[in-house]
Amino acid sequence: MPDSNFAERSEEQVSGAKVIAQALKTQDVEYIFGIVGIPVTEIAIAAQQLGIKYIGMRNEQAACYAASAIGYLTGRPGVCLVVSGPGLIHALGGMANANMNCWPLLMIGGSSERNQETMGAFQEFPQVEACRLYTKFSARPSSIEAIPFVIEKVQYLTAVRTSIYGRPGACYVDIPADFVNLQVNVNSLKYTECCMSPPISMAETSAVRMAASVIRNAKQPLLIIGKGAAYAHAEENIKKLVEQYKLPFLPTPMGKGVVPDNHPNCVGAARSRALQFADVIVLFGARLNWILHFGLPPRYQPDVKFIQVDICAEELGNNVKPTVTLLGDISAVSKQLLEELDKTSWEYPPESKWWKTLREKMKSNEAASKELASKKSLPMNYYTVFYHVQEQLPRDCFVVSEGANTMDIGRTVLQNYLPRHRLDAGTFGTMGVGLGFAIAAAMVAKDRHPGQRVICVEGDSAFGFSGMEVETICRYNLPIILLVVNNNGIYQGFDMDAWKETLKFQDPTAVVPPMCLLPNSHYEQIMTAFGGKGYFVETPEELQKSLRQSLADTSKPSLINIMIEPQATRKAQMESSFVTRLECSGMIWARYNLSLLGSNDSPASAS
Ligand code: ADP
Ligand code: MG
Repeated sequence: MPDSNFAERSEEQVSGAKVIAQALKTQDVEYIFGIVGIPVTEIAIAAQQLGIKYIGMRNEQAACYAASAIGYLTGRPGVCLVVSGPGLIHALGGMANANMNCWPLLMIGGSSERNQETMGAFQEFPQVEACRLYTKFSARPSSIEAIPFVIEKVQYLTAVRTSIYGRPGACYVDIPADFVNLQVNVNSLKYTECCMSPPISMAETSAVRMAASVIRNAKQPLLIIGKGAAYAHAEENIKKLVEQYKLPFLPTPMGKGVVPDNHPNCVGAARSRALQFADVIVLFGARLNWILHFGLPPRYQPDVKFIQVDICAEELGNNVKPTVTLLGDISAVSKQLLEELDKTSWEYPPESKWWKTLREKMKSNEAASKELASKKSLPMNYYTVFYHVQEQLPRDCFVVSEGANTMDIGRTVLQNYLPRHRLDAGTFGTMGVGLGFAIAAAMVAKDRHPGQRVICVEGDSAFGFSGMEVETICRYNLPIILLVVNNNGIYQGFDMDAWKETLKFQDPTAVVPPMCLLPNSHYEQIMTAFGGKGYFVETPEELQKSLRQSLADTSKPSLINIMIEPQATRKAQMESSFVTRLECSGMIWARYNLSLLGSNDSPASAS
């Protein structure tokens, strides 16, 4: 809606920066993450004056991750504000990540002055073109001399609508430096209204009927719940489908919590088995990409029938030809399915052989990880760490996680009970997202779910990508708990003895395995440097105590640096999407042991 004060002061001149801020406010933008500098500082200040929250970050990439998480968590785009040239380029990773995950995002980049274009202006770069690959929409408000018209274009912010309509995604709006401080008369401004929530689309009734019939005839059915279902707020209808018809379900990593992980019908602990032997799979907002092994044998039956629910028509039929396609909004379509299935008294028999198989597999997998968790040896392994974390994890907390083993194993142990409360490396497998996501989640928690905590579970390598955002966390005093699961490396590292042994040989750049990071790094001191609380823990008791203290203290952020066995890996199974890469790193490791360390008694070869 037009700001009445704004309109009444009709003789007033107003700067481009203020007009941009007002346009964002009109579109209900609540949060801007960014780094200021020439030429966008004035935009950030103008936005703050209108009550938009501005969170200054330390790297544009992290700022962009944070803004994109806002889009996923709230359904309206967060804004990322960056300076020209390198600032925008740093943020490209965040835009790509948002777009790959189908999350709304609005990127605003300052750019060099129009009258210096092609002259080698300060930080000049073809920004609109550069963003095209990473976005649904990339534009500069048309290059017009008459500022009011250009600003009017800016006001429309087609980008906000494009970011949330259809398949959500990233949008870019380019703001030349000379727009920012130019003054126009408020009379020449026209404000559009806030763009409406996306219209709800429903699936064809004949397709819904067919889907219901395929489900009723399934011998070994499975529902896969993806982050599209979480984004669509489909939790109520999907939970009804699961419970009313007694169907097994499997969440994807960020689909966790749409139906709580501890629901008796959740077959997460028998993931491989469920995928491999299901004869009918209903996909609720999950693509058949690498995360779901492309929907192809040997991970699936060659004749498995997919019922695909998605808002994006182009997605339907990717990699596998579905038996039924339900094009529409997941919340609406799952309601249609409920109504159709309700027409008969059918339910999937709870005593079926399929349920029995799944339950047995779940039991044996759970027992295997419990056994690993109960190991008393030091340094701790991943399972021990995560079991202790899970014990104290508040049920309603946000779990942010990234890393290789840290994320993969953590996902199997750490439970989500609420939708849209898990954020991780996602579709693009992006490392470095954790702190930005945690900051966004903390903002959302503060404003929408008071009292909820954010627990950010990082591998030591993953933490390094955006570790300086700890300063941001401390600056805004966000009570985030960062756990750094520290194995001194990427996939695996060396302990101190092996490290010293290696350094004896020659130039470290020639002998230190590429996966190694400095052993026993005191990451917790990064937190204490800025006034937060830091813990260095080596035993289960220390871990329990530091967790208890961190959870009790809501006045401060904390970082718990958890030392684990540098050679710890996951239990043998086919469930990891990173399994091939892990095997690969194991091979590299073996080669290092042989060629560089040479001897059999080096600690590294004992694994
Ligand atoms: P996951 O990583 O959980 O497997 P993906 O990101 O692969 O999930 O898939 C999410 C899917 O959800 C995308 O194909 C996207 O088009 C779809 N989607 C997003 N929002 C909606 C919605 N409101 N209704 C239906 N589908 C949606
Ligand atoms: Mg590591």
